[in-house]
Amino acid sequence: MEQNTCPFTYQEDHEAEAVAIFCMDHRFQKATHHFIEDGLGIKHYDRVTIAGAGKSLLEPKDDPDYQVLEKQIDLSAHLHKIKKVLIVHHADCGAYGGKKSFGNSDVEEQKHLDDMEAIKQKVLGIIPGVEVIKIYMALTEDKKKIKPQIVS
Ligand SMILES: [Zn+2]
Repeated sequence: MEQNTCPFTYQEDHEAEAVAIFCMDHRFQKATHHFIEDGLGIKHYDRVTIAGAGKSLLEPKDDPDYQVLEKQIDLSAHLHKIKKVLIVHHADCGAYGGKKSFGNSDVEEQKHLDDMEAIKQKVLGIIPGVEVIKIYMALTEDKKKIKPQIVS
C-alpha cells in the first residue's frame, strides 16, 4: 500500500536555533507558532508544551514537574545545540487559576512578568549564558485577539 508523505522537507540536521517553552493551552498554540516563526523569524525550534509554560521551574528542584522541564531544556541544549530559550506565558492561563484569579489584566500580566523573570534566572542556572527571550501573549481589550509582546 502506498503511503502518503507530509508536504514538508525533512531536515536531516537536528540542530535548532531555540527551544520554546509554552503552555499546552490549545487556544494559544497557533498564535505562538505564528509569532515565533513570523514575528521572531525563528524557523527551527524545539517545543516544550506544558501547563503553565515555565511555571514548573519555580517549584523546588526535587519536584517532578521541575525535573521534567529541566530535563527537556537540558536535552535541547546538549542534543540540538540551541542558542536561545523562549519563555512564553499567556493571559487566562489555567495553571495560574485563569483570569478570574486576578483583579484585572494588569495585575495578571505583572504576575506573569515577575514569574518569567524568575524563570529566566532558573534557565540561566541550567544553561549559563544562553539568550532568554520572554514573551507574554496578552489579549486585546475586547478579548477577541491575541497580542504577543516581547518583555524586556
Ligand atoms: Zn496556560
